[in-house]
Amino acid sequence: MNKKKIAILGSTGSIGTQALDVIEQNPDLFEVEVLTANSQFELLIQQAIKFKPNAVVIVNDDHYDHVYEALDPLGIKVYAGRKALDQIVQMGSIDMVLTALVGFAGLSPTLEALKAGKAIALANKETLVVAGELVMATAKKYNAPIIPVDSEHSAIFQCLVGEEHNPVEKIILTASGGPFRTKSLEEIEKASLNEALNHPNWSMGSKVTIDSATLMNKGLEAIEAKWLFGLKPEQVEIIVHPQSIIHSLVGFADGSLKAQLGLPDMRLPIQYALGFPYRIPSNSKRFSFTDFPNLNFEQPDLDRFPNLRIALECMQKAGNMPCVMNAANEVAVDAFLNEKISFTDISRIIEKTIVNSSFLSTPDYQDYIESDQEARNRASSFIY
Ligand code: NAD
Ligand code: MG
Repeated sequence: MNKKKIAILGSTGSIGTQALDVIEQNPDLFEVEVLTANSQFELLIQQAIKFKPNAVVIVNDDHYDHVYEALDPLGIKVYAGRKALDQIVQMGSIDMVLTALVGFAGLSPTLEALKAGKAIALANKETLVVAGELVMATAKKYNAPIIPVDSEHSAIFQCLVGEEHNPVEKIILTASGGPFRTKSLEEIEKASLNEALNHPNWSMGSKVTIDSATLMNKGLEAIEAKWLFGLKPEQVEIIVHPQSIIHSLVGFADGSLKAQLGLPDMRLPIQYALGFPYRIPSNSKRFSFTDFPNLNFEQPDLDRFPNLRIALECMQKAGNMPCVMNAANEVAVDAFLNEKISFTDISRIIEKTIVNSSFLSTPDYQDYIESDQEARNRASSFIY
Protein backbone atom coordinates (compact mmCIF):
# COMPACT_ATOMS: atom_id res chain seq x y z
CA MET A 1 0.00 0.00 0.00
CA ASN A 2 1.27 3.48 -0.85
CA LYS A 3 1.82 5.75 2.10
CA LYS A 4 -0.89 8.38 2.49
CA LYS A 5 0.65 11.83 2.14
CA ILE A 6 -0.80 14.21 4.68
CA ALA A 7 -0.87 18.00 4.88
CA ILE A 8 -1.53 19.29 8.40
CA LEU A 9 -2.89 22.82 8.58
CA GLY A 10 -2.16 23.95 12.15
CA SER A 11 0.47 21.33 12.99
CA THR A 12 1.65 23.15 16.14
CA GLY A 13 -1.73 23.02 17.89
CA SER A 14 -3.37 20.41 20.08
CA ILE A 15 -4.89 18.41 17.18
CA GLY A 16 -1.85 19.00 14.96
CA THR A 17 0.67 17.66 17.48
CA GLN A 18 -1.52 14.64 18.29
CA ALA A 19 -1.84 13.93 14.55
CA LEU A 20 1.95 13.94 14.32
CA ASP A 21 2.01 11.40 17.21
CA VAL A 22 -0.29 9.15 15.19
CA ILE A 23 1.86 9.54 12.07
CA GLU A 24 5.03 8.84 14.03
CA GLN A 25 3.46 5.62 15.37
CA ASN A 26 2.52 4.52 11.83
CA PRO A 27 5.47 5.29 9.56
CA ASP A 28 4.43 2.56 7.09
CA LEU A 29 1.03 4.14 6.54
CA PHE A 30 1.55 7.90 6.58
CA GLU A 31 4.01 10.50 5.43
CA VAL A 32 3.97 14.22 6.22
CA GLU A 33 3.85 16.27 3.03
CA VAL A 34 3.07 19.75 4.40
CA LEU A 35 3.09 21.40 7.83
CA THR A 36 1.69 24.85 8.60
CA ALA A 37 1.55 27.10 11.65
CA ASN A 38 0.34 30.57 12.46
CA SER A 39 3.14 31.98 14.63
CA GLN A 40 4.81 29.16 16.61
CA PHE A 41 7.75 29.08 14.24
CA GLU A 42 10.19 27.32 16.58
CA LEU A 43 7.94 24.31 17.02
CA LEU A 44 7.21 24.31 13.28
CA ILE A 45 10.95 24.15 12.57
CA GLN A 46 11.43 21.26 15.04
CA GLN A 47 8.52 19.36 13.52
CA ALA A 48 9.85 19.89 10.00
CA ILE A 49 13.33 18.70 10.96
CA LYS A 50 11.79 15.55 12.41
CA PHE A 51 9.12 14.74 9.79
CA LYS A 52 10.87 16.11 6.67
CA PRO A 53 7.84 17.49 4.81
CA ASN A 54 8.08 18.68 1.25
CA ALA A 55 6.99 22.20 2.30
CA VAL A 56 5.93 24.32 5.28
CA VAL A 57 3.90 27.51 5.61
CA ILE A 58 4.37 30.03 8.39
CA VAL A 59 1.29 32.21 8.19
CA ASN A 60 2.69 35.12 10.20
CA ASP A 61 5.35 36.34 7.76
CA ASP A 62 7.37 38.11 10.49
CA HIS A 63 8.90 34.69 11.12
CA TYR A 64 9.62 33.79 7.49
CA ASP A 65 13.38 34.51 7.60
CA HIS A 66 13.87 32.36 10.68
CA VAL A 67 12.02 29.41 9.20
CA TYR A 68 13.67 29.80 5.80
CA GLU A 69 17.18 29.85 7.28
CA ALA A 70 16.48 26.72 9.31
CA LEU A 71 14.73 24.63 6.65
CA ASP A 72 15.97 25.74 3.23
CA PRO A 73 19.35 24.00 3.74
CA LEU A 74 17.39 20.76 4.35
CA GLY A 75 15.62 21.09 1.01
CA ILE A 76 12.27 21.94 2.61
CA LYS A 77 10.32 24.64 0.78
CA VAL A 78 9.20 27.52 2.98
CA TYR A 79 6.27 29.83 2.28
CA ALA A 80 4.60 32.58 4.31
CA GLY A 81 1.25 34.33 4.52
CA ARG A 82 -2.41 33.40 4.41
CA LYS A 83 -2.58 33.07 0.63
CA ALA A 84 0.15 30.42 0.78
CA LEU A 85 -2.25 28.15 2.70
CA ASP A 86 -4.78 28.33 -0.13
CA GLN A 87 -2.09 27.42 -2.65
CA ILE A 88 -0.22 24.73 -0.75
CA VAL A 89 -3.30 22.54 -0.22
CA GLN A 90 -3.57 22.14 -4.00
CA MET A 91 -0.15 20.48 -4.26
CA GLY A 92 -0.46 17.40 -6.47
CA SER A 93 1.30 15.04 -4.08
CA ILE A 94 -1.09 15.60 -1.13
CA ASP A 95 -3.62 12.82 -0.52
CA MET A 96 -5.34 14.22 2.55
CA VAL A 97 -5.54 17.60 4.27
CA LEU A 98 -6.08 17.64 8.04
CA THR A 99 -7.67 20.98 8.92
CA ALA A 100 -6.39 21.45 12.47
CA LEU A 101 -6.27 25.23 12.43
CA VAL A 102 -8.67 27.22 14.55
CA GLY A 103 -11.49 29.53 13.51
CA PHE A 104 -12.77 31.20 10.35
CA ALA A 105 -9.23 31.08 8.89
CA GLY A 106 -9.94 27.44 7.99
CA LEU A 107 -12.66 28.24 5.47
CA SER A 108 -10.61 29.41 2.51
CA PRO A 109 -7.92 26.66 2.50
CA THR A 110 -10.59 23.99 3.09
CA LEU A 111 -12.54 25.17 0.03
CA GLU A 112 -9.35 25.25 -2.06
CA ALA A 113 -8.39 21.75 -0.94
CA LEU A 114 -11.86 20.46 -1.83
CA LYS A 115 -11.69 22.10 -5.25
CA ALA A 116 -8.40 20.26 -5.81
CA GLY A 117 -10.25 17.02 -4.96
CA LYS A 118 -8.32 16.38 -1.73
CA ALA A 119 -9.79 14.24 1.03
CA ILE A 120 -10.34 16.35 4.14
CA ALA A 121 -9.91 15.19 7.72
CA LEU A 122 -11.93 17.97 9.30
CA ALA A 123 -11.13 19.17 12.81
CA ASN A 124 -11.80 22.84 12.07
CA LYS A 125 -15.52 22.86 12.89
CA GLU A 126 -15.82 26.63 12.38
CA THR A 127 -15.57 26.05 8.60
CA LEU A 128 -18.84 24.10 8.60
CA VAL A 129 -20.48 26.48 11.06
CA VAL A 130 -19.71 29.49 8.88
CA ALA A 131 -20.43 28.08 5.43
CA GLY A 132 -21.60 24.48 5.76
CA GLU A 133 -23.88 24.58 2.76
CA LEU A 134 -21.15 25.91 0.46
CA VAL A 135 -18.51 23.54 1.85
CA MET A 136 -20.69 20.43 1.48
CA ALA A 137 -21.75 21.47 -2.04
CA THR A 138 -18.09 21.99 -3.00
CA ALA A 139 -17.14 18.58 -1.59
CA LYS A 140 -19.94 16.98 -3.63
CA LYS A 141 -19.06 18.83 -6.82
CA TYR A 142 -15.39 17.82 -6.69
CA ASN A 143 -16.08 14.36 -5.29
CA ALA A 144 -13.85 15.04 -2.28
CA PRO A 145 -14.64 13.18 0.95
CA ILE A 146 -14.86 14.95 4.32
CA ILE A 147 -14.05 12.69 7.28
CA PRO A 148 -14.77 14.24 10.68
CA VAL A 149 -12.12 14.43 13.40
CA ASP A 150 -14.24 16.03 16.13
CA SER A 151 -14.85 13.14 18.54
CA GLU A 152 -18.66 13.40 18.50
CA HIS A 153 -18.84 13.54 14.71
CA SER A 154 -16.31 10.75 14.37
CA ALA A 155 -18.57 8.68 16.66
CA ILE A 156 -21.61 9.39 14.49
CA PHE A 157 -19.63 8.73 11.30
CA GLN A 158 -18.47 5.40 12.73
CA CYS A 159 -22.05 4.48 13.70
CA LEU A 160 -23.18 5.22 10.13
CA VAL A 161 -20.69 2.91 8.42
CA GLY A 162 -22.76 0.17 6.76
CA GLU A 163 -26.03 2.10 7.25
CA GLU A 164 -26.10 3.71 3.80
CA HIS A 165 -29.63 2.40 3.14
CA ASN A 166 -31.07 3.46 6.47
CA PRO A 167 -32.19 7.03 7.08
CA VAL A 168 -31.16 8.63 10.33
CA GLU A 169 -34.04 9.51 12.64
CA LYS A 170 -31.90 11.64 14.92
CA ILE A 171 -28.46 12.01 16.36
CA ILE A 172 -27.60 12.62 19.99
CA LEU A 173 -24.48 14.68 20.60
CA THR A 174 -22.95 14.17 24.02
CA ALA A 175 -21.45 17.11 25.93
CA SER A 176 -19.20 16.91 28.97
CA GLY A 177 -20.86 20.01 30.41
CA GLY A 178 -17.46 21.66 30.92
CA PRO A 179 -15.97 22.99 34.15
CA PHE A 180 -19.10 24.95 35.16
CA ARG A 181 -21.64 22.16 34.76
CA THR A 182 -22.61 22.19 38.44
CA LYS A 183 -22.02 25.91 39.11
CA SER A 184 -24.76 28.44 39.79
CA LEU A 185 -25.32 31.44 37.54
CA GLU A 186 -23.77 33.66 40.25
CA GLU A 187 -20.63 31.51 40.34
CA ILE A 188 -20.42 31.47 36.53
CA GLU A 189 -20.66 35.30 36.51
CA LYS A 190 -17.47 35.40 38.60
CA ALA A 191 -15.61 32.66 36.71
CA SER A 192 -11.91 33.38 36.25
CA LEU A 193 -9.87 32.65 33.14
CA ASN A 194 -8.05 29.80 34.88
CA GLU A 195 -11.29 28.19 36.00
CA ALA A 196 -12.67 28.40 32.47
CA LEU A 197 -9.49 26.89 31.01
CA ASN A 198 -9.65 23.92 33.39
CA HIS A 199 -11.60 21.38 31.31
CA PRO A 200 -12.53 18.21 33.25
CA ASN A 201 -11.89 15.61 30.50
CA TRP A 202 -9.99 17.01 27.51
CA SER A 203 -6.78 18.99 27.05
CA MET A 204 -7.29 21.20 23.98
CA GLY A 205 -6.37 24.56 22.45
CA SER A 206 -7.50 27.60 24.42
CA LYS A 207 -10.30 28.69 22.05
CA VAL A 208 -12.11 25.34 22.00
CA THR A 209 -11.57 25.01 25.77
CA ILE A 210 -13.41 28.28 26.43
CA ASP A 211 -16.09 27.23 23.91
CA SER A 212 -16.49 24.04 25.95
CA ALA A 213 -16.92 26.04 29.16
CA THR A 214 -19.63 28.26 27.62
CA LEU A 215 -21.20 25.26 25.77
CA MET A 216 -20.79 27.24 22.54
CA ASN A 217 -18.69 24.26 21.47
CA LYS A 218 -21.75 22.02 21.56
CA GLY A 219 -23.73 24.60 19.59
CA LEU A 220 -20.97 24.76 16.96
CA GLU A 221 -20.98 20.95 16.89
CA ALA A 222 -24.75 20.80 16.39
CA ILE A 223 -24.38 23.01 13.30
CA GLU A 224 -21.33 21.00 12.17
CA ALA A 225 -23.37 17.78 12.49
CA LYS A 226 -26.34 19.24 10.64
CA TRP A 227 -24.17 19.86 7.56
CA LEU A 228 -21.93 16.80 7.76
CA PHE A 229 -24.82 14.37 8.01
CA GLY A 230 -27.49 16.30 6.07
CA LEU A 231 -29.91 16.67 9.01
CA LYS A 232 -32.70 19.04 9.94
CA PRO A 233 -32.12 21.06 13.13
CA GLU A 234 -34.89 19.06 14.85
CA GLN A 235 -32.91 15.85 14.30
CA VAL A 236 -29.99 17.07 16.41
CA GLU A 237 -30.33 16.43 20.18
CA ILE A 238 -27.83 17.26 22.89
CA ILE A 239 -27.35 15.44 26.17
CA VAL A 240 -24.84 16.25 28.90
CA HIS A 241 -22.72 13.20 29.79
CA PRO A 242 -20.00 14.28 32.24
CA GLN A 243 -17.73 11.23 31.81
CA SER A 244 -17.22 11.76 28.03
CA ILE A 245 -17.19 7.98 27.41
CA ILE A 246 -20.10 7.77 24.97
CA HIS A 247 -18.86 10.05 22.22
CA SER A 248 -22.29 10.37 20.52
CA LEU A 249 -25.19 8.29 19.21
CA VAL A 250 -27.34 7.75 16.13
CA GLY A 251 -31.03 6.78 16.26
CA PHE A 252 -32.67 4.87 13.37
CA ALA A 253 -36.27 4.40 12.16
CA ASP A 254 -36.70 1.13 14.07
CA GLY A 255 -35.92 2.82 17.39
CA SER A 256 -32.40 1.41 17.58
CA LEU A 257 -29.64 3.60 18.95
CA LYS A 258 -25.99 3.04 18.03
CA ALA A 259 -23.23 4.61 20.10
CA GLN A 260 -19.46 4.75 19.90
CA LEU A 261 -17.57 4.59 23.20
CA GLY A 262 -14.02 4.94 24.41
CA LEU A 263 -11.77 6.84 26.76
CA PRO A 264 -11.49 10.53 25.87
CA ASP A 265 -8.36 10.60 23.69
CA MET A 266 -8.37 12.65 20.47
CA ARG A 267 -5.75 10.42 18.90
CA LEU A 268 -8.46 7.83 18.31
CA PRO A 269 -10.74 9.97 16.09
CA ILE A 270 -7.65 11.53 14.45
CA GLN A 271 -6.24 8.15 13.46
CA TYR A 272 -9.66 6.90 12.39
CA ALA A 273 -9.95 9.86 9.99
CA LEU A 274 -6.39 9.49 8.67
CA GLY A 275 -6.73 5.75 8.21
CA PHE A 276 -10.36 5.56 6.98
CA PRO A 277 -11.74 3.12 5.87
CA TYR A 278 -9.23 1.01 7.81
CA ARG A 279 -8.95 0.84 11.59
CA ILE A 280 -5.32 1.04 12.59
CA PRO A 281 -4.16 -1.05 15.55
CA SER A 282 -3.23 1.08 18.54
CA ASN A 283 -1.96 0.36 22.03
CA SER A 284 -3.98 3.23 23.55
CA LYS A 285 -5.37 2.63 27.02
CA ARG A 286 -8.53 0.49 26.85
CA PHE A 287 -11.86 1.46 28.38
CA SER A 288 -13.19 -0.66 31.24
CA PHE A 289 -16.79 -0.48 32.49
CA THR A 290 -15.66 -1.25 36.03
CA ASP A 291 -13.53 1.94 36.03
CA PHE A 292 -16.73 3.84 35.16
CA PRO A 293 -19.55 2.13 37.06
CA ASN A 294 -21.72 5.21 36.57
CA LEU A 295 -22.36 6.90 33.27
CA ASN A 296 -24.63 9.90 33.88
CA PHE A 297 -26.85 11.97 31.62
CA GLU A 298 -28.68 15.27 32.10
CA GLN A 299 -30.38 17.93 30.00
CA PRO A 300 -28.23 20.96 29.07
CA ASP A 301 -29.27 24.12 30.92
CA LEU A 302 -29.85 26.86 28.34
CA ASP A 303 -30.34 29.52 31.05
CA ARG A 304 -26.96 29.05 32.68
CA PHE A 305 -25.31 28.47 29.27
CA PRO A 306 -26.93 31.01 26.92
CA ASN A 307 -24.32 30.40 24.20
CA LEU A 308 -25.86 27.01 23.50
CA ARG A 309 -29.32 28.56 23.17
CA ILE A 310 -27.93 31.25 20.84
CA ALA A 311 -26.19 28.67 18.66
CA LEU A 312 -29.31 26.48 18.40
CA GLU A 313 -31.35 29.55 17.42
CA CYS A 314 -28.75 30.44 14.76
CA MET A 315 -28.85 26.86 13.45
CA GLN A 316 -32.64 27.33 12.97
CA LYS A 317 -32.29 30.78 11.37
CA ALA A 318 -29.51 29.51 9.06
CA GLY A 319 -28.33 31.83 6.23
CA ASN A 320 -25.46 34.01 7.41
CA MET A 321 -26.48 33.88 11.10
CA PRO A 322 -24.14 31.05 12.16
CA CYS A 323 -21.33 32.97 10.41
CA VAL A 324 -22.17 36.16 12.32
CA MET A 325 -22.40 34.23 15.59
CA ASN A 326 -19.09 32.50 14.96
CA ALA A 327 -17.28 35.77 14.24
CA ALA A 328 -18.69 37.42 17.38
CA ASN A 329 -17.74 34.36 19.41
CA GLU A 330 -14.16 34.36 18.09
CA VAL A 331 -13.78 38.04 19.01
CA ALA A 332 -15.41 37.63 22.43
CA VAL A 333 -13.43 34.50 23.35
CA ASP A 334 -10.21 36.23 22.33
CA ALA A 335 -11.13 39.21 24.55
CA PHE A 336 -11.90 36.87 27.44
CA LEU A 337 -8.57 35.05 26.95
CA ASN A 338 -6.88 38.46 27.13
CA GLU A 339 -8.86 39.27 30.31
CA LYS A 340 -10.65 42.23 28.74
CA ILE A 341 -14.17 40.96 29.45
CA SER A 342 -15.85 38.63 31.94
CA PHE A 343 -16.98 35.09 31.17
CA THR A 344 -20.66 36.01 30.91
CA ASP A 345 -19.85 39.03 28.71
CA ILE A 346 -19.06 36.51 25.98
CA SER A 347 -22.72 35.67 25.36
CA ARG A 348 -23.83 39.28 25.83
CA ILE A 349 -21.47 40.39 23.06
CA ILE A 350 -22.56 37.60 20.74
CA GLU A 351 -26.22 38.37 21.30
CA LYS A 352 -25.75 42.12 20.74
CA THR A 353 -23.80 41.43 17.54
CA ILE A 354 -26.51 39.15 16.18
CA VAL A 355 -29.34 41.57 16.98
CA ASN A 356 -27.51 44.34 15.10
CA SER A 357 -26.63 42.27 12.01
CA SER A 358 -28.70 41.95 8.84
CA PHE A 359 -29.96 38.56 7.77
CA LEU A 360 -29.00 37.03 4.41
CA SER A 361 -30.95 33.86 3.62
CA THR A 362 -28.75 32.52 0.78
CA PRO A 363 -25.25 33.94 1.21
CA ASP A 364 -22.48 33.24 -1.29
CA TYR A 365 -18.77 33.10 -0.50
CA GLN A 366 -18.31 36.87 -0.67
CA ASP A 367 -21.32 37.39 1.63
CA TYR A 368 -19.71 35.10 4.22
CA ILE A 369 -16.46 37.07 4.04
CA GLU A 370 -18.37 40.33 4.54
CA SER A 371 -20.69 39.00 7.25
CA ASP A 372 -17.68 37.71 9.14
CA GLN A 373 -15.80 41.01 8.88
CA GLU A 374 -18.81 43.15 9.80
CA ALA A 375 -19.63 40.95 12.78
CA ARG A 376 -16.01 41.11 13.96
CA ASN A 377 -16.03 44.91 13.77
CA ARG A 378 -19.38 45.10 15.55
CA ALA A 379 -18.38 42.67 18.31
CA SER A 380 -15.08 44.55 18.82
CA SER A 381 -16.97 47.84 19.16
CA PHE A 382 -18.82 46.36 22.16
CA ILE A 383 -15.52 45.52 23.83
CA TYR A 384 -13.20 48.45 23.32
P1 NAD B 1 -4.85 25.10 18.85
O1 NAD B 1 -5.09 26.51 19.23
O2 NAD B 1 -4.18 24.19 19.81
O3 NAD B 1 -4.03 25.04 17.48
C1 NAD B 1 -4.39 25.81 16.39
C2 NAD B 1 -3.41 25.63 15.25
O4 NAD B 1 -3.85 26.46 14.17
C3 NAD B 1 -1.99 26.05 15.55
O5 NAD B 1 -1.09 25.24 14.85
C4 NAD B 1 -1.90 27.49 15.01
O6 NAD B 1 -0.60 27.80 14.57
C5 NAD B 1 -2.86 27.44 13.83
N1 NAD B 1 -3.55 28.70 13.61
C6 NAD B 1 -4.18 29.46 14.54
N2 NAD B 1 -4.73 30.54 13.97
C7 NAD B 1 -4.45 30.48 12.65
C8 NAD B 1 -4.73 31.31 11.54
N3 NAD B 1 -5.40 32.46 11.68
N4 NAD B 1 -4.28 30.93 10.32
C9 NAD B 1 -3.60 29.79 10.18
N5 NAD B 1 -3.29 28.97 11.19
C10 NAD B 1 -3.71 29.30 12.42
O7 NAD B 1 -6.29 24.50 18.42
P2 NAD B 1 -6.81 23.00 18.55
O8 NAD B 1 -7.34 22.78 19.91
O9 NAD B 1 -5.82 22.06 17.99
O10 NAD B 1 -8.09 23.05 17.60
C11 NAD B 1 -8.00 23.09 16.19
C12 NAD B 1 -9.38 22.89 15.60
O11 NAD B 1 -9.83 21.59 15.95
C13 NAD B 1 -10.43 23.87 16.15
O12 NAD B 1 -11.34 24.19 15.14
C14 NAD B 1 -11.12 23.06 17.24
O13 NAD B 1 -12.44 23.45 17.46
C15 NAD B 1 -11.07 21.67 16.65
N6 NAD B 1 -11.11 20.59 17.65
C16 NAD B 1 -10.13 20.51 18.58
C17 NAD B 1 -10.16 19.49 19.52
C18 NAD B 1 -9.05 19.32 20.53
O14 NAD B 1 -9.05 18.35 21.27
N7 NAD B 1 -8.09 20.19 20.60
C19 NAD B 1 -11.21 18.55 19.51
C20 NAD B 1 -12.18 18.67 18.54
C21 NAD B 1 -12.12 19.69 17.59
MG1 MG C 1 -16.03 17.71 20.02
